[in-house]
Amino acid sequence: MLVAGLDAHICEVCVEQAQEIVAEELYGGLNPEEQPQPEAKKPGFEFKLPKSIIPSQIKEHLDKYVIGQDEAKKILAVAVYNHYKRLSHPATSDDEVQIEKSNILLVGRTGTGKTLLAKTIAKFLQVPFAIVDATVFTEAGYVGEDVESILSRLLQVCDYNVAAAEHGIVYIDEMDKVARKSDNPSITRDVSGEGVQQAMLKMLEGTDVNVPPQGGRKHPEQKLVKVNTQNILFICGGAFDGIEKIIARRTNTKVIGYGNANKKQIKEEDMLQYVTHRDVKRFGMIPELIGRLPVISYLRPLDLDAMKRILVEPRNSLLRQYQHLFRLEGINLVFTDDAIQYIAETALEYELGARGLRSICEAIMTDAMFDLPGHKEIKHYTIDAVYAKSKLEGGMLEVLRAAA
Ligand code: ADP
Repeated sequence: MLVAGLDAHICEVCVEQAQEIVAEELYGGLNPEEQPQPEAKKPGFEFKLPKSIIPSQIKEHLDKYVIGQDEAKKILAVAVYNHYKRLSHPATSDDEVQIEKSNILLVGRTGTGKTLLAKTIAKFLQVPFAIVDATVFTEAGYVGEDVESILSRLLQVCDYNVAAAEHGIVYIDEMDKVARKSDNPSITRDVSGEGVQQAMLKMLEGTDVNVPPQGGRKHPEQKLVKVNTQNILFICGGAFDGIEKIIARRTNTKVIGYGNANKKQIKEEDMLQYVTHRDVKRFGMIPELIGRLPVISYLRPLDLDAMKRILVEPRNSLLRQYQHLFRLEGINLVFTDDAIQYIAETALEYELGARGLRSICEAIMTDAMFDLPGHKEIKHYTIDAVYAKSKLEGGMLEVLRAAA
């Protein structure tokens, strides 16, 4: 048999030979199917909710690491508690009441602590935790990653222990970026928006998913690993930029008959607390997906007070980290109140968010960290506002802002 090409033909014997050569070169003589794969480890993971934990203790734990955001913490604590209650009391087929999965949607501007909350909870429960970014996904068959690779990340963090992964928590960031592009179904397919939402449906609800263990499509020869998502908790987060306007429009319609003057005046940043599933749908999430994220909560934008507290209060707060570093050098490092005030104000003023605190502190501390190790006689070092200001002068802030 001859296989026709553009300018030449190739016979069946040559095809076979060529295949052998390729197999020899790429796979050392083995068939792609016979390739050693990261073996899916056998079940050996048993999940146990930390003994006699109640939601208020989960919140207490979160308080140690995350500042403010009480509403989100409460809702998260309850949802996670119920989720794991459900796991420790698996429903039998004749149970009348079956507790459904309670995936969570967190709405809040970037840098307000969404990822931090999810991460802290996963650590507390000692379950595998993976963070993925929704923006890299596209509908199957298009350039980009398939949604199944969400679970590849989870498998990787628990060293391919499928049973452990099946009890994990996945945080899907930037969920708002897969919003439907327009309200009207358009003639062009929305492969990175609605297409991704559709693809996520089954996974979020709970089903067997065939996961490429290495993720992506770069290893077409890899064997798929079956992962059941029934007990995986999905926490989705997104900034949902502009959702405040949608909420405002909806809530204002409730104020009837008094005209504009009597409409409740709510500041834009306080609007988020009224967010509902309807607003998220308006924003462009498909109702089927929203239905699979039954718990919704919001995070407040950080104000000056919150910024100041973030600097000092969390267990591993930024300033504590610097103090620890200096202590290792035998130096007692002190930040004055006005320095803390100045750093927080600067981050707010330049709209750098909580993430910006770190770059500001780095800019302030670099010189000290460079010079002090050479001066063994210095035992105390104080950072005040004047010192901090002097380090940020000369365009440093503009650089930070551009980088934010
Ligand atoms: P996002 O909401 O975009 O997911 P992150 O949770 O990743 O934001 O927050 C970025 C960083 O900012 C965190 O690593 C943390 O250091 C700091 N941060 C943000 N919000 C808080 C908060 N409420 N309490 C303590 N630190 C916070």
